[in-house]
Amino acid sequence: MVSCIFCNIINGTIPSEKVYEDEHVYAFMDITPVAKGHLLLIPKVHRENVYDMTEDEAANLFRAVPKIANALKAEFQPAGMNLLQNNGSHAGQTVYHFHLHFIPRYDEKDGFVWTWNPQVDTLTPEVIGGLASQLRERL
Ligand code: 5GP
Ligand code: ZN
Repeated sequence: MVSCIFCNIINGTIPSEKVYEDEHVYAFMDITPVAKGHLLLIPKVHRENVYDMTEDEAANLFRAVPKIANALKAEFQPAGMNLLQNNGSHAGQTVYHFHLHFIPRYDEKDGFVWTWNPQVDTLTPEVIGGLASQLRERL
């Protein structure tokens, strides 16, 4: 057994409810779902989080995204769906093998609580412009 939980799921050492796999990715049901159909899509290669992925690895992973999202939509008819991907403990990452959450949304009583507080007092249009300029330079 290797030390990564999700690598052990891919190699079959830890059981999982697999829903899809191809050469590059593996998708399986989350063990503590916040909504009906909550599942995870992971690369077969071990990458800690988004910072470690190559463009090709990211492309290979996202190629599977519409297929999985549409399967969830067709089977369970959610009212909406969040795709969520946490990087680092401050962002809520608890398993350090890249994973994309698919969270179908049904109604206000589902288990995914979303808090979104725009910081409009400090992040003014002028500040935003400066940040964009920094990023344009970097990219
Ligand atoms: P994170 O907080 O890192 O974005 O999410 C990790 C997710 O992995 C959690 O939703 C958690 O329920 C799920 N998870 C952790 N361990 C296992 C496991 O052994 N099997 C499955 N199927 N999911 C797991
Ligand atoms: Zn791993």
